[in-house]
Amino acid sequence: MFEKLLIANRGEIACRIQRTARRLGIATVAVYSDADAGALHVRVADEALRIGPAAARDSYLRGDAIIAAALRSGAQAIHPGYGFLSENEPFAADCASAGLLFVGPPPAAIRAMASKSAAKALMQQAGVPLVPGYHGEDQSPALLQREADRIGYPVLIKASAGGGGKGMRRVDAAADFPAALASCQREALASFADARVLVEKYLLQPRHIEIQVFTDTHGNGVYLFERDCSVQRRHQKVLEEAPAPGMDPKRRARMGAAALAAANAVGYVGAGTVEFIAGPDGKFFFMEMNTRLQVEHPVTEMITGLDLVEWQLRVTSGEALPRSQKELSIRGHAIEARIYAEDPERGFLPATGRLVHYRTPEATPTVRIDSGVEQGDEITPYYDPMIAKLIVWGESRELARGQLLKALQQIQIVGLSNNVQFLSRLVATPAFAGADLDTALIEREHSRLFGATAPVPDAALIAAALRIVALQTQAAHEGPGLEVWRHADSWRLNAPAARTFHFRTAGADRELVVRPANGGFELKLDARTMQLQWQALSATDARLSVDGNSFDATTLVRDGHCDVFLQGIHHQFEYADPLAHVGEQSAAEGHIRAIMPGRIVALLVQPGARVTRGEPLLILEAMKMEHTLAAPADGICEAFNVAVGEQVAEGTELVQFTPSVPAPA
Ligand code: ADP
Repeated sequence: MFEKLLIANRGEIACRIQRTARRLGIATVAVYSDADAGALHVRVADEALRIGPAAARDSYLRGDAIIAAALRSGAQAIHPGYGFLSENEPFAADCASAGLLFVGPPPAAIRAMASKSAAKALMQQAGVPLVPGYHGEDQSPALLQREADRIGYPVLIKASAGGGGKGMRRVDAAADFPAALASCQREALASFADARVLVEKYLLQPRHIEIQVFTDTHGNGVYLFERDCSVQRRHQKVLEEAPAPGMDPKRRARMGAAALAAANAVGYVGAGTVEFIAGPDGKFFFMEMNTRLQVEHPVTEMITGLDLVEWQLRVTSGEALPRSQKELSIRGHAIEARIYAEDPERGFLPATGRLVHYRTPEATPTVRIDSGVEQGDEITPYYDPMIAKLIVWGESRELARGQLLKALQQIQIVGLSNNVQFLSRLVATPAFAGADLDTALIEREHSRLFGATAPVPDAALIAAALRIVALQTQAAHEGPGLEVWRHADSWRLNAPAARTFHFRTAGADRELVVRPANGGFELKLDARTMQLQWQALSATDARLSVDGNSFDATTLVRDGHCDVFLQGIHHQFEYADPLAHVGEQSAAEGHIRAIMPGRIVALLVQPGARVTRGEPLLILEAMKMEHTLAAPADGICEAFNVAVGEQVAEGTELVQFTPSVPAPA
């Protein structure tokens, strides 16, 4: 085995690879961009080298800089993780030329699978079943349209070089094809520098089932069973599990054999994943092969008890696979949830910001957290907005699901939008509970998953009021927060006998009056009077007892914004500080602003056009994805303040829009 490994990646996967390397006694070298100089993966590595500015193309995608760093550090091998250079054939070849081991398959195998179109042609020859479609070289729009018409709608246009759910458009009718094709090609070119696409039949209610394969340089090959990754949003995985619910041993063996046939057809070595799409009738078709470690590999580790990164390192150093097919078996059930900085209520728009408060459940043999950040760290706009992965294990699917719900309720994130509450709701839906899985589950369960936030409970308002008092007392005394929390007395020192708090929740404005009484407090909320006792547990945590019912709350108050975690639910509301300005209500109705920094790629209506609510007005490309901005109401699109190709900052007012019924002042 080699002695020093450079990890050409960042975030949770860089941290995760380091853990295995360390266990095997291999020294680790991290690389970082300017945006990551203080990142966790840098802090935990044995050594760290800067490779360039923040933008990925100037750092994590700079193969030459990474190879130079490896040579400088004396590393003998490079692990690319996933994303970035993990499926980059020239990089794998350059590593070899520089005398470095590349932890991944031979360059030729990467090339063979790099284009979804070419891979499909190869798989056709190898007898692996394919989705009906067109994956030819001729890319003329007329021909593509004819092929789509022939295949029959709905069809899916996919970037041949695509990945990560980008560069895909579902088309339901012939008339929509040209616009969808143009948009898909634009995104493909921007994201993958390759505008070529393929067209295939869009399967309705399919499941995404993938097979983990492993091969070595001695001619051995095994499959480590399947993962079901059907629960997706925007064609991107959100929940992954193993084994796939309802899989029977015969079908598993057939899929395993097909996956190994795919791997062998390209002379594969190492860890790879063959992705299939399966119809409700159980038929399965090859989609693509990912020639690298997958984000969701931990669920396979949990049900097999194996460390896939260890296997990768062993295979790379020339060892034979540690186990044969006969020696592999499945134990229990594992589920992974991807925790993202994003706003589910706004189309899963990626979010950025600082993790002001970040708490995850304690790791146990059945609960695993793969995180690349700690409290205080920043999620920047430069890279994937994944915060962490939560992986749980149980004897059965239902036990694993229970574990997952419990663990999700222990995650606390303040400072940026995230999908934790969304995931809790998702895992609790009858469809997920009943393993009624397909890729449209999230759309189907829309009404359960979005909108209607639960009303803020009284307990949350009470916790916030106490926190505000503690913070103000702390500010007045400049003492440590915990001490102030502990001494209910300080209340009397610093506050008038009774105080009134105004909270603004989504549903209503609430008023809470708090008065010291009987060594505790007396509360008045609406017409009710309650007795409160409390005890501080930490700087942010308190145990409250209201009329004898006790509960724990984690509470943060910043700039008039309150975040209260109560029994796993995150409540957010505003505190109207009487001393601060009353916030001007923005007449949000009439404004169309850039939701994040990006580039304008298309203006879709003529200035002066009368539009209806929801009508697309322009397309903004941000974080390599296209976001369509629509009319917020019926009205007139008077003029655009921006032009195609223009780079805009977050918050830029993009359109002069006049709603037909003026927004209330
Ligand atoms: P990527 O490489 O971007 O992940 P994939 O080809 O793996 O793209 O497809 C991603 C997801 O898109 C699949 O998991 C599935 O949900 C959906 N998908 C792909 N092909 C089809 C299809 N022919 N019909 C329906 N859904 C599909």
